[in-house]
Amino acid sequence: RLEETVYLEKLSVVGQMAAAIAHEVRNPLTTVRGMIQFLSVDTSDQKLKEYAPLLLDELDRTNKIITDYLSLVKPGNPSLKSLPLDRTIEEILSLIAPYGVLHNTLITYKKAGGEYYVVADLHYLKQCMINIIKNAIEAMERHDGVVTIYLYAADRNQLTLAIEDNGKGMTEEELTKIGLPFYTTKTKGTGLGTMIMSRLIREIGGNIHYESKSGSGTRVLLTLPVR
Ligand code: ADP
Ligand code: MG
Repeated sequence: RLEETVYLEKLSVVGQMAAAIAHEVRNPLTTVRGMIQFLSVDTSDQKLKEYAPLLLDELDRTNKIITDYLSLVKPGNPSLKSLPLDRTIEEILSLIAPYGVLHNTLITYKKAGGEYYVVADLHYLKQCMINIIKNAIEAMERHDGVVTIYLYAADRNQLTLAIEDNGKGMTEEELTKIGLPFYTTKTKGTGLGTMIMSRLIREIGGNIHYESKSGSGTRVLLTLPVR
């Protein structure tokens, strides 16, 4: 399909750019970050004290964008292992929970029970789940945001996790655009998260599917192999 070809071309341009600049840009960025931190600790300059956190945030954001682009070019080789479902998800949730707290969002996991395993690369799975949950949190427009994760379906070959949120949801048109490179509705978004994770998931033999209703929320179905 023509559309697809255009996106693939865009992707390879992104890849080349990322490979060329990422390492070069990261080092000075780290130096500047360290200097700002150093200068702002021991200073009587009120302006510097006030604005330093903002500068640090922006530098962190820049670094994150570079990381997003980099994982497009070199996702690395997946190392597939059989992972206990509940323990793996609890581990991932402990990483993202602080972000939820920051946005008044409760993240809950309904345990499936001890006997469930998935075959996945732990690092890939972490990155994907964190991206999905982060998007859910960022879709919240209310003070009682809830993200619920549970085992949606399972058979001998695969299992499906549901990640549901009560955020703003997506229109049918928005749903068709999710996952396209650079598609974002956020002022500070990169529009790369979904594309990267669907690639990672497919690489480990899984699948990702979105259901959403504008105004009421989104459900992401993440299917993973179990053997
Ligand atoms: P980014 O988060 O940088 O915008 P993503 O690829 O992660 O890029 O997401 C693309 C877009 O898809 C988001 O900007 C948002 O509009 C939409 N989206 C993704 N997940 C959700 C969700 N759970 N609820 C509502 N919209 C979502
Ligand atoms: Mg995102």
